[in-house]
Amino acid sequence: VNKTSLVINSFIKEASKLAQVGLPENIEFHCDITDERMVAYADATQLQQVMMNLINNARDAVDGREHPVIQVTLDGATPEHPSLSQFKPTESRYAELCVMDNGCGIRKEHLSRIMEPFFTTKEQGKGTGLGLAMVHGVVQSHHGFVAVESEEGGGTAFRFFLPLVEAAS
Ligand code: ADP
Ligand code: MG
Repeated sequence: VNKTSLVINSFIKEASKLAQVGLPENIEFHCDITDERMVAYADATQLQQVMMNLINNARDAVDGREHPVIQVTLDGATPEHPSLSQFKPTESRYAELCVMDNGCGIRKEHLSRIMEPFFTTKEQGKGTGLGLAMVHGVVQSHHGFVAVESEEGGGTAFRFFLPLVEAAS
């Protein structure tokens, strides 16, 4: 890992632009980033890969939808954030990076397994099952958390929480 103090607002904006380039044109893509300046001690290459993995999964999930939508949001979060109640957050402030889609959703019985290496529901050659395992690894090495909300047939939201450091200005 190669961590530096990263202003994640501009970083996520660029990373999501980069990820958007590869998307089919019919996908409606939104990127909403808070004005609150947020600095995290993070590995830029790994964060970029997290974005790519989450956005690629969203792209696969909306395949065949009539009005496919993918939305990326970045916000500040406190330990009281509802999605953090299942964890034991120790930092006072987090960045919440959310990638949402209105795609196929995840079956309930698969939810507990999606982070496992090599777990995939995709056809042979289309999925390695390593994307979310990588996301999980990055979350751990950054002392963050990842939370998934999904509804079969109704879409999915991945929330990636990253501890913030005081801005060194
Ligand atoms: P892969 O994309 O190669 O299958 P991942 O680790 O990225 O591997 O994802 C594992 C599985 O989790 C996928 O095969 C899919 O079943 C499910 N999944 C991940 N993201 C989404 C999503 N946004 N919508 C629906 N299912 C998803
Ligand atoms: Mg994937």
